[in-house]
Amino acid sequence: MTKKWIVKNGTFAVLEEGRSVLKGYMVVEDDRITYLGEKAPESMEDADTIDGTHLFFMPGLVNTHGHAAMSLLRGYGDDLALQVWLQEKMWPMEAKFTADDVYWGASLSVVEMIKGGTTTFVDMYDHMDQVAKVVQDSGMRGVLTRGVIGLCSAQEQMQKLSDAIAFAKDWHGQAGGRITTMISPHAPYTCPPDFIEKFVQAAHDLDLPIHTHMSETTTEVAQNVEDYGLRPVAHLEKLGVFSRPTLLAHAVHLTDEEIEVLARHQVAVSHNPGSNLKLASGIARVPDLLKAGVTVSLGTDGPASNNNLDMFEEMRLAALIHKGVSGDPTAIPASEALRMGTEYGAKSIFLDQIGKLA
Ligand SMILES: [Zn+2]
Repeated sequence: MTKKWIVKNGTFAVLEEGRSVLKGYMVVEDDRITYLGEKAPESMEDADTIDGTHLFFMPGLVNTHGHAAMSLLRGYGDDLALQVWLQEKMWPMEAKFTADDVYWGASLSVVEMIKGGTTTFVDMYDHMDQVAKVVQDSGMRGVLTRGVIGLCSAQEQMQKLSDAIAFAKDWHGQAGGRITTMISPHAPYTCPPDFIEKFVQAAHDLDLPIHTHMSETTTEVAQNVEDYGLRPVAHLEKLGVFSRPTLLAHAVHLTDEEIEVLARHQVAVSHNPGSNLKLASGIARVPDLLKAGVTVSLGTDGPASNNNLDMFEEMRLAALIHKGVSGDPTAIPASEALRMGTEYGAKSIFLDQIGKLA
């Protein structure tokens, strides 16, 4: 039997043209909103009633980039540049992580996210079966992907790729549809071009989106130009990455031409202001991206590069830093920051049934 709830006299965040809140009624049948409006719906007899007076209802927050198990490394190696932090601190410790460590690290992050109002998160890591179990047990919605670093032998590369494909295939649609998967070469600076092309092929074969890190630091962009003669956007475009629905984490350092290319391919960007500030990576051109029509959502990145999973903090940072650096107090209005944390989050992970009250 369908379980029916009705909220009476609630205040709902709707972020529509011309108004940001609606006062009235919401009906939920099982896990779906079936009515939202100012007038009372017609039949309400068989529904459980919730008195919404003095309550504010908003969509669950969508955290579009992170590495949940890294809560175990929170505070380890603070105040370092990205490459030093990765190569000297994170990677050697992560190499010691067992599947069990990943389960408990991800569990700790999921508790923090639930307490902070996040209902959906993107996670890129190793031992992803463990993260999938945490999603299953917790009731969260997870967009999960086995992130692969290709700085290893060809044989090891192939093993990691087949792991990533098996995970994406086995878990897509699991936990009652709460788990979806993506395909993730970690970054252009950690995966050789021919290896990235294999991920593109896998994404086509499985009909899945691609998620990768890109242009997080100026050093990384300069290295890309030196190694391949192209900036990262042209490099990934050439490798066919943008022929798939794509979500890029960071995209801090972009030229006008690169923004045009991202807009043309409808590539989404996960803006991670807390992480970018902590690692001094720079400030992404978010107002320019939004103006060009690029979907920009928000992510905390891993707990070790933030150092928390508080999406309200990311919305606040997104709203404030772009005002500060542009000198324009209308750069990211509050409603736009809230959309980035909810509606645009859903859009950037290609889920069209979540992210807003409607
Ligand atoms: Zn990341």
